[in-house]
Order: sequence, then structure tokens, then C-alpha cells
Amino acid sequence: MLACRRCLEDGYDITPPPVFSGRPGAQVMIIGQAPGNTEVLAGRPMNAGSGRRLFEWLAAAGWEEDDFRRRHYMTSVTRCYPGRNSSGKGDRVPTRVEQANCRSFLEREIALVNPRLIIPVGGLAIKLFYASSLRLEEIVGRAAYFSSSRPC
Ligand code: SF4
Repeated sequence: MLACRRCLEDGYDITPPPVFSGRPGAQVMIIGQAPGNTEVLAGRPMNAGSGRRLFEWLAAAGWEEDDFRRRHYMTSVTRCYPGRNSSGKGDRVPTRVEQANCRSFLEREIALVNPRLIIPVGGLAIKLFYASSLRLEEIVGRAAYFSSSRPC
């Protein structure tokens, strides 16, 4: 995964290397949209603004940031920085091609780590697990259950 440059080869102006953290056996997996520039520079997911808010939520649930980073797995729908969007405000949402390119890595991560809890963060990650017709208010606070091999 670290050596992957598939999206660059497909012509997307991404910034590798892929960013993720954790190890097999982690009980919790966070899946975000894609790393930002600061995540690439720091070499760790959820490093800056988005991470601050996420770790405030996790702290409210009893998880302290350093301990969470040590024990659990953090990844994203695509793993390289996609760059700024054309308006210059915020980062570009990875295209369907980039998402498809990175999908096999996510499937392997979920199979290898086999977490008990997956927390999708942001619309792109949420759509991996819930019907796209659902509104955010219908999803937040609602759990989906999967067997170890496929959704049930
Ligand atoms: S985003 Fe994923 S598929 Fe694309 S180059 Fe990075 S690791 Fe490879």
C-alpha cells in the first residue's frame, strides 16, 4: 500500500505517500474521507482540524487521543492527499476512480484488522455502509451489523 501510486499513474494530482495507522487486532477502526496535506507531512491520519474535532468526540466517549492512536486503526476511503478543490476552499473530494483504486486496500485492511467497531467519518465513508438515499439525520446514531465475512 505504501508503494502505491495508482492514482498518480491515472493522472490525478495526488500527493503520496498513503496515510494510515494502526495494526492488526485493533478493536476500533476509523475510516475518514482522505488525508489532508498536514496528515501527509505528519505521517499520521486525523492530524489537524478534522482530528481535533474527532478527538473531542472520542474524548467525550472516554477515549484519550494518544491511547486511541496507539491501540486502534485509522484509515480512509482514499489514502493519498487529493489536493485542494478547484474553488480553492477545502480539499478535493476523491473521484469515483480514485475511490475504486483504493477500495481493495480498504477491503484488505478490514479483513486483516477485523475490528469489532468501525466508525465512518464523513459522507464518503458513511456511504460505504449505508444506502446513499438516507439522510445524515437518519444515519447518525444508527448502527449497522456485519458478520466477519459479509454484511448481515
Ligand atoms: S489513493 Fe490509494 S489507490 Fe490512489 S495512489 Fe494512493 S494508495 Fe494508491
